[in-house]
Amino acid sequence: MRALEEKIVAEGKVYPGNILKVSSFLNHRIDVDFIMEMGEEIARLYRDCGVNKILTIEASGIAIAVGAAAHMHVPVVFAKKNNTSNLNADLYSSQIHSFTHNRDYHVVVSKEFLSPEDRVLIIDDFLANGAALNGLLDIVAQSGAETVGAAIAIEKGFQHGGDELRRKGLRIESLALIDSMDDGAITFR
Ligand code: 5GP
Repeated sequence: MRALEEKIVAEGKVYPGNILKVSSFLNHRIDVDFIMEMGEEIARLYRDCGVNKILTIEASGIAIAVGAAAHMHVPVVFAKKNNTSNLNADLYSSQIHSFTHNRDYHVVVSKEFLSPEDRVLIIDDFLANGAALNGLLDIVAQSGAETVGAAIAIEKGFQHGGDELRRKGLRIESLALIDSMDDGAITFR
């Protein structure tokens, strides 16, 4: 999505460790009009796919998921980050390794909000090594629902999480795909 690439170049900041901050429109301040544009594009890409639920992860995935949901007219469920690994019969849970915070955490979704008849679109702000996406896929699998595909705002292609999941057959649509950000210079695929 050209408008997103332009916004990343204009407003994004590259930090050591291959971290891109887009705090001015996605991760801290939210540019709602722009989120709605990205959501419209996601809705276009997944129209006629029978999606009836969007699954994302708190906190940064929620805005873009809501942007897409507003155009697709489906509910958003967000996985909650949980400090404890206590098993609870009412929850689906999975473990995710956070690339940005370099630690593991558990995410949970209430069984009330995902069921076998659901056709789920997974949405997140970033895709890097694929840990977050794998955790969400695990939760959908536990529920017996079907994952229709994933939509990501910004994929960092040089971290290869997306390649691996595409090889396994998952449809992933990334609105911006970064090939490199060496020395702070961002190159798109
Ligand atoms: P993965 O699990 O694919 O390695 O990383 C994706 C998750 O880590 C996303 O949910 C996102 O919140 C966070 N993340 C990974 N890379 C970046 C980055 O460069 N910038 C920001 N803001 N978040 C990132």
